[in-house]
Amino acid sequence: MCNVDYDIIIIGAGTAGLTAAIYGVRSGKSVLLMEEKMYGGQIINTPEVENYPGIESISGASFATNLYHQAKGLGAEYMTAQVKKIEDCGNTKKIVTDDHSYISRAVIIATGAKNRSLNLPNEKEMIGKGVSYCATCDGMFFRNKDVAVVGGGNTALEDAMFLSNYCSKVYIIHRRDTFRGESHLADTLREKENVEFVLDSVVEQLNGETMLESVQVRNKVQNKTRTIPVSGVFIAVGQVPDNGAFSDIVTLDDHGYILAGEDCKTSCEGIFVAGDCRTKTVRQLTTAASDGAVASLAACSYIDTKSRRERI
Ligand code: NAP
Repeated sequence: MCNVDYDIIIIGAGTAGLTAAIYGVRSGKSVLLMEEKMYGGQIINTPEVENYPGIESISGASFATNLYHQAKGLGAEYMTAQVKKIEDCGNTKKIVTDDHSYISRAVIIATGAKNRSLNLPNEKEMIGKGVSYCATCDGMFFRNKDVAVVGGGNTALEDAMFLSNYCSKVYIIHRRDTFRGESHLADTLREKENVEFVLDSVVEQLNGETMLESVQVRNKVQNKTRTIPVSGVFIAVGQVPDNGAFSDIVTLDDHGYILAGEDCKTSCEGIFVAGDCRTKTVRQLTTAASDGAVASLAACSYIDTKSRRERI
């Protein structure tokens, strides 16, 4: 057997990964968190979290920072690295990064999901020129300007709420006439004078030479197009998983999510999965934290059982 570097390596330091780290170190295991970008995951961009039990209101950034310091304070190690693949070495796993490899007894994949794009022809080129996927990060650039938010989930509604506080006008463009996001958010937005709902509508074109000037929108029911002048468009149409690096070691579903049930066990013994990157029906902060705990305790139990067997 190869020399083991860590009991558990966790790939991804969002809510699921950081929670898994807390449970792992508190169970006496050595834990390494590997994160490609910055710790915190998707919640870091949410202006206000108001549905996490026991916390009335907190910014996503503060929530993520508290969680990170909690995991580090308890003894979890943290590194910035991009994982290229995981190799199954039987009793251990080899995690290969861009410049090194590490051996662990168990692995927890908690890579979350990335922003879905609208797949418009010039969408990529217009990023930073009016197109954004993060209202909290870029919203201030659009103070006193007209902007649009695309999407009908909680992210779109929360982004619209945030932007309506300092943009002149906020259009919410959604492809249906009912929202996937919480109705109280939509109701509050309806009361705002500077918010306009553009429903049953899809964005067909992003117009502008060097900077975004307007969006062309088609109402699907009336089959009519309309050009809305805006300086910014915030695209919040959900997420897609990013599990390509693991597709040859664990089974993915047709949409690229890692197949697992509520026990967070993947098709490969010793590899567990937590949070938005696995097959599940509810993707919330609470369920990410829950998965982190379940996956970590399952990994600890797997390691302990293996160790007992090796001693016999
Ligand atoms: P989401 O709930 O999946 O909503 C995505 C929205 O984008 C849907 O309204 C969908 O329309 C629309 N959409 C998807 N593909 C589209 C396309 N190609 N063109 C136009 N519209 C498209 O995503 P989300 O809002 O990012 O939220 C993700 C998860 O995080 C959810 O479970 C959400 O509740 C959670 N979340 C929680 C908090 C919080 O706890 N404070 C904050 C933000 C998000 P349809 O409705 O027609 O499918």
